[in-house]
Amino acid sequence: MDKAWVVATLDGIARFGKGERGFSRLVFGEAEWGAVEYVTGLMREADLAVRTDAFGNVIGRLEGRESGASVVATGSHVDTVPEGGNFDGVVGVLAGLGALMRLKARGLLRHPVEVMVFRGEESARFSIHTMGSKVMAGIASVEAWRKLQDHGGTTLAQALAARGLDLERIPEAVRRPEEFKAFVEMHIEQGPVLEEAGIPIGVVEAIAGPVRLKISVEGTASHSGTTPMGKRRDALVSAAQVVLAVQDEAAKRAERRIVGTVGVMKVHPGAMNVVPGRVEMWVDIRGIDAEDVAATARAVREAAARIADREGTRIRLETLSSDAPVPMDSDVIRTIEAACRQVGVAYRRMPSGAGHDAMNMAKLAPAGMIFIPCRQGASHNPDEYAAPEDILTGIDVLTETLAALAG
Ligand SMILES: [Zn+2]
Repeated sequence: MDKAWVVATLDGIARFGKGERGFSRLVFGEAEWGAVEYVTGLMREADLAVRTDAFGNVIGRLEGRESGASVVATGSHVDTVPEGGNFDGVVGVLAGLGALMRLKARGLLRHPVEVMVFRGEESARFSIHTMGSKVMAGIASVEAWRKLQDHGGTTLAQALAARGLDLERIPEAVRRPEEFKAFVEMHIEQGPVLEEAGIPIGVVEAIAGPVRLKISVEGTASHSGTTPMGKRRDALVSAAQVVLAVQDEAAKRAERRIVGTVGVMKVHPGAMNVVPGRVEMWVDIRGIDAEDVAATARAVREAAARIADREGTRIRLETLSSDAPVPMDSDVIRTIEAACRQVGVAYRRMPSGAGHDAMNMAKLAPAGMIFIPCRQGASHNPDEYAAPEDILTGIDVLTETLAALAG
């Protein structure tokens, strides 16, 4: 288990879904199945007991000394967004496999250890993220998922059936909390913090929960040439101030790890010679403390009311979704930190701004996450890159973490 193994395994997975720009391995497509089957083969070669559950999640298992002992699990995903990279998810699968190979060579631990390849972590095909771990945690709705289809009109049920899986039977993949002792996922940071600080390991404290708002601004559409500046009710001018309010309110709470983004804006009627009469925008506010996120959303709401007053427009805020942040387990966090000290690498605690399978697995088991740096924080694009040395350091820390949890 060295740098050459890391590079060869990354290259092996990189054969699937490679396009002109980056990698496209959408869940249950040919390329994703190829990558999953390649990893399944590596698990078999490593002499793990391998099974595929009713949703196609692949589980490689290293038996423990004690029959019936609860499982220490790790894993991630190999599906990508369209034109994504070969590191998001892949690194966690590869590290899990590498760690199990090392643990196997050392001899039996008390608890069994499993490495999982979750299906459909990315929402790119069916608009639902972390599908495989949702199924495993028992929070997937077969009824709701019957309606899911991709852009080409293929339903999830059809995509599963093409490979002999049955949507109606996915509840068979549900596992019980009693089965697990802990879950640890290694992942690239997908942000710039570790690289900039020169720190090789991030220990995730909590996975941020996004609150999503839709904000609609109503003004009056009028002629851009004949409406004097003092007589306008320009919806876009109000909306621009709301964008700044989102930025301000998030920045005020930067210490509390709040981030706020207006990612989409639609301007109506959208003509150069018309003062905008209506604007709709979509806002994403995240943090690792639910009360901080709620306070930020409230502050944006209050700022919007003041802007509407001043500008003579009407601003409506609608909460589209509100997901609670998922704290990682404090014992698992401490175990990861002890593993870092054992390996002799620096670490820092940090939040995860992005969602991961670990947040669903946290419903089944005390969960933790290990972050490694990625170049310039790039992710979900072809420039995504993590150095083999950094991946190897991650494997070192993951191995000792699993060993401590399963020992
Ligand atoms: Zn991922």
